[in-house]
Amino acid sequence: MSSRLIRAVIDTQALQHNLSVVRGFAPKAKVMAVVKANAYGHGLVPAVLALAGAEAFAVARLEEGVALRNAGVRGAVILLEGVFNATQLAEAAHERFELMVHTPEQVALLAEWRGAHRFSVWLKIDSGMNRLGFRPEEFRAAYDTLSGSAAVARIRLLTHLANADDQDDGVTREQLALFERTIAPVAAAGLECSIANSAGVLGCPQSHVQWVRPGLMLYGVSALKNRNAADHGLKPAMTLFSTVIAVKNVLPGERVGYSGRWTAARPTRIATVAVGYGDGYPRHMVDGAPVLVAGRQAGIVGRVSMDMIGVDITDLPPVQVGDPVVLWGEGLPVEAVAPHADTIPYELLCGVSQRVALEFK
Ligand SMILES: *Cc1c(COP(=O)(O)O)cnc(C)c1O
Repeated sequence: MSSRLIRAVIDTQALQHNLSVVRGFAPKAKVMAVVKANAYGHGLVPAVLALAGAEAFAVARLEEGVALRNAGVRGAVILLEGVFNATQLAEAAHERFELMVHTPEQVALLAEWRGAHRFSVWLKIDSGMNRLGFRPEEFRAAYDTLSGSAAVARIRLLTHLANADDQDDGVTREQLALFERTIAPVAAAGLECSIANSAGVLGCPQSHVQWVRPGLMLYGVSALKNRNAADHGLKPAMTLFSTVIAVKNVLPGERVGYSGRWTAARPTRIATVAVGYGDGYPRHMVDGAPVLVAGRQAGIVGRVSMDMIGVDITDLPPVQVGDPVVLWGEGLPVEAVAPHADTIPYELLCGVSQRVALEFK
């Protein structure tokens, strides 16, 4: 047993394997590996080392890109939200970041650039998500300004899918068609495009085009509704381990945890496990949420505390203090856990807190 009660073990070979699964799904596309939010909680630097075969890395924020450069990443780094003032633009030039351009303000910033660096930009079109990007009717003006700008060395085009996790949802087809129509007038320029996130990679081959942008699937999690990693040959890269720190019996009618949310209906054995919302295990996880205690599935009982949870182990073979507990990962897909906290795997993975040490294997 490790000396730590709780740790997130990161399987770097699984990351490499999952990149090869991306290649299998989209063999003709280049891969922009999305490593924002500390590589979805997996540790930015070890993740990019494991994913070194990707043609580019994408992050949300400037500081995340700087962390990549500081870690020795010399290749293409894309800022998915771009920059928002001249100071950030100068820093992006210094670091040779590629920029998302999705607002008129960002086009104007580039027009005012007087430095020697010429930027590679990704012009973002809003094909229906209504989050970032130029509306189709605004695209042409933005494109013409950028292509006439001395600050711009290269333009690529990009859009983001809102509903690709649901293969029965017709919105994805509409988004693809709108993107096609919008860029048709500049088709002669032969610009590279990017559409697919993980759900697009897994579920929508038409979205693969020249560049794919997987995040979640690189970490070994399915991005499609009602599917697990194993359905796609993906391997979970993070396993969150904790430890049983107490075992006790409670009588029928006795309650467990803060405000007594759960009441024993029978003589019950409870294991108290060292994980709580202070570690990123959500407080709103409901009774019955699955965990693996010494490799066997059991359900949590009572409110999640800051540092602990209770688990009903009555039906399990004898459990000892010190036994390992898996909260998600190998043997317990995070896809199966997240719904019990009314959330998605993304939030559980990138919500693992500073207190939890990452261990790499
Ligand atoms: C986060 C993000 C991705 C990756 O999405 P996944 O669902 O994790 O594959 C791709 N593109 C953009 C613009 C993003 O913000």
